[in-house]
Amino acid sequence: MENFRKDSIETLCVQAGYEPKSGESRVLPLYMSTTYKYNETKDLEDLFNLAKPGHIYSRISNPTVAALEEKISKLEYGIGAIGTSSGLSAEFTTVLNVCSFGDNFISSSSIYGGTYNLFDVSLRKLGINCKFFNQDSEDKDIEKLIDDRTKLIYIETLANPALKIADFDKFVKIAKKHKLLLVVDNTIATPYLVNPIKLGANIVIHSSTKYLDGHASAVGGFLVDGGNFEYENNPRYKDFYTPDKSYHGIVYTRDCKNSAFIVKARVQIIRDYGCVMSPFNAYLTNLGTETLHLRIRRHSENALKLAKLLENHPKIEWVRYPGLENNDQHILLKKYFRDSLSSGMVTVGIKGDREEIAKFADNLKLFKIVTHIADVRSCILHPATTTHRQLSKEALKDAGVTKNLVRLSVGIEDFDDLKNDILQALNCIK
Ligand SMILES: *Cc1c(COP(=O)(O)O)cnc(C)c1O
Repeated sequence: MENFRKDSIETLCVQAGYEPKSGESRVLPLYMSTTYKYNETKDLEDLFNLAKPGHIYSRISNPTVAALEEKISKLEYGIGAIGTSSGLSAEFTTVLNVCSFGDNFISSSSIYGGTYNLFDVSLRKLGINCKFFNQDSEDKDIEKLIDDRTKLIYIETLANPALKIADFDKFVKIAKKHKLLLVVDNTIATPYLVNPIKLGANIVIHSSTKYLDGHASAVGGFLVDGGNFEYENNPRYKDFYTPDKSYHGIVYTRDCKNSAFIVKARVQIIRDYGCVMSPFNAYLTNLGTETLHLRIRRHSENALKLAKLLENHPKIEWVRYPGLENNDQHILLKKYFRDSLSSGMVTVGIKGDREEIAKFADNLKLFKIVTHIADVRSCILHPATTTHRQLSKEALKDAGVTKNLVRLSVGIEDFDDLKNDILQALNCIK
């Protein structure tokens, strides 16, 4: 189907992943079917042997989900992707694909609160130990955390809600030096603004719940394989080049070549843990992704205007937005992000205590109070009392969350309406 340039992202957003034959549905069909029919036993046997591509059972793959997987993979310059039931399950699947009991991995501490909890609490209970680092630390201090049983490095392109940008050159260098997988959560930046695989990352994670869907209608996630990592003879990744007895002796590097990671993740982790994306969520997410390129530009433009407006407002202590020239992340933004656009995420420090912050939020009319970000509608959240309440004082500091931090997810509405809404609500506080 490749009759357009591989790197023309606008066309990929709209058309990649699904090509109807003559007389078939123009829109990606929704296949609500758990299973698939074959004419002969031999056909199904070939599928089980991975000798032919095709669908067996929807816990492992499904045509609607597969079409979106192909689109997301192409958008991220991957060789394959898996749709999962949520962003967190994409992370879980990725970690379990390389870590067993007793292994460890290292992660930036400037990450999404839910991810932090998964790494710091739930994975530890499975005997998988995460060691956190401050992403501004010197290389040698980060490298000190790496040992023989370290299996991956985890960072976020644009960390939510700290709005810190990962320095790709630094982390690619560390990963290469220690022959470690570099895994990047690209949820907030989206493939429209940054392509981590092109910058040297090996695996990309998405919570498609956010900008990929963009309409707050479907929870979902993706892992995308760059197919650019050498597992063979690297003792950290023995499971990739020795027979997997849970899948009749498959040797992933031998039998799947550069798709080793994504095939192993599907036939072992997704098959056994079952955290797969539902076809209906893939159908909805695909519709959203068709307009990703338009929405992200608009989100970013509205957010930049709002950040500039609030910078000089007497009731605002500080504004954090990488698109502002005086922001400490601006150099990295210019280096890595398309057109220096910075998404719709803005954080501000409100002058005043908890009651004043609540009064501000309660008086907003267009910005709604919700536990969500990155959809077309503007919204507001106070992380310290909600999404980040389970974190310790130190972890909050590392995550860049202060008591007076308010997170704004700027939508694609008319800018003047958004501006007037914020200004009238600020007028309601002391
Ligand atoms: C929301 C989010 C996640 C988790 O995704 P879910 O789909 O809610 O499981 C992971 N990373 C980032 C950056 C997020 O914003």
